[in-house]
Amino acid sequence: MPELPDLTVLSEAFETALTGRVVTAVTVLEPLVVRATPTEMEGLLGQQLTQVEQRGKFLIFSFARDRLVVNAMLTGRLGLAAPGSRAFPKTAAVVAFDRRTGEQSPSSGPPARRSRRRKPPAWTRRPNVLPPDDEPVELRYRDATRMGKLYLTPHGLDRPVAGWSEQGPDADDPTLDLDAWRGRLRRHSGELKSVLRNQEFVAGIGNAYSDEILWAARLAPFRKRSSLAPEEMDALYHATRDVLARATDQLRDRVPPRFEVEVRDFLQVHGKGGQPCPRCGARLSEISAGGFVTTFCRSCQG
Ligand SMILES: [Zn+2]
Repeated sequence: MPELPDLTVLSEAFETALTGRVVTAVTVLEPLVVRATPTEMEGLLGQQLTQVEQRGKFLIFSFARDRLVVNAMLTGRLGLAAPGSRAFPKTAAVVAFDRRTGEQSPSSGPPARRSRRRKPPAWTRRPNVLPPDDEPVELRYRDATRMGKLYLTPHGLDRPVAGWSEQGPDADDPTLDLDAWRGRLRRHSGELKSVLRNQEFVAGIGNAYSDEILWAARLAPFRKRSSLAPEEMDALYHATRDVLARATDQLRDRVPPRFEVEVRDFLQVHGKGGQPCPRCGARLSEISAGGFVTTFCRSCQG
C-alpha cells in the first residue's frame, strides 16, 4: 500500500515529468476504479497538467480545468511508461500525455495556478530518472484488486472523495509540532498501531510505516495509547518524523524509473518476522490479522 513516503516521491516525480504536458488520450480498462462518467474522462483531452500534490494517502493531479484524485488503497500503483511499451500487469487506466513543448496550451488555467509549481527536486535531475521532455509519455494506473479509486472532479462539480474530509494533518506537516501532536494523540484511543494508521489522527501512515515507527520509538504495537507516559508520546512523535523523512530520502535514491513497483527492502522490521531484530538481535515477531501483517520485537519494544 503506498504510504506518505511513496506518495511524496511519486508526486515529485510526476510533477516534474508531467506538468506542462497536454492530455492526448484517456483509456479506462477497469471502469470499477473510476469515479467519473466516460464523457467526463474524455473531457481531460486537451487539458494541460498544472500541478501534482500528495495529501495523506492521496495523489492530486490538477489540470487546467479539472482535478483527478487517486487513492491507490491496497494494490493500486502508478507509473510512467513510453507509449506502446508493454502494459503493466492489471492496468486499469491510462492517461497519455504529449511531448512537452514549453508553451501553455490554449485551454490551460489562469497564471496563478501555474505559478504554484515547485522547483524540481534535485533527485529528479539525475540522468534517466524521468522521461525526456521531447517524447510523449503515459501515466498508467494498475490495480490487482481494483480496490483503489480515481476520482475525476470536473471544474464546478463537487464530487465527494471517500476519506478526504476526515483526514488529520499529514504526518510530516511542518505545522504539526510536538504540542499539536500531543493534543491530537490525547483525543485518540486504542492500540498504538491502530492510532497511527487512523487517517483522522494524522494522514499518510499505513501498515508498513506504522511498524517501522513503533520499532523506532521502542513501543509495542498493541500497547494502549492511554498507557503512554508523556515522554513516550514525544518519542512516538520524533520516531514518526524521523522514519518518514529517512524513508522519503531512501526512496528518492531507490525508485525504479517506471515508478510502479513499490520499494520496501530497506525497512528495518516490517515483513521481516523470524529475522533478528536489527537493534537487539532477538527474533522478530509477526502477527497476521485481517490480511495485515504486524512485525515487532517483543524484546526491545515495550
Ligand atoms: Zn529488538
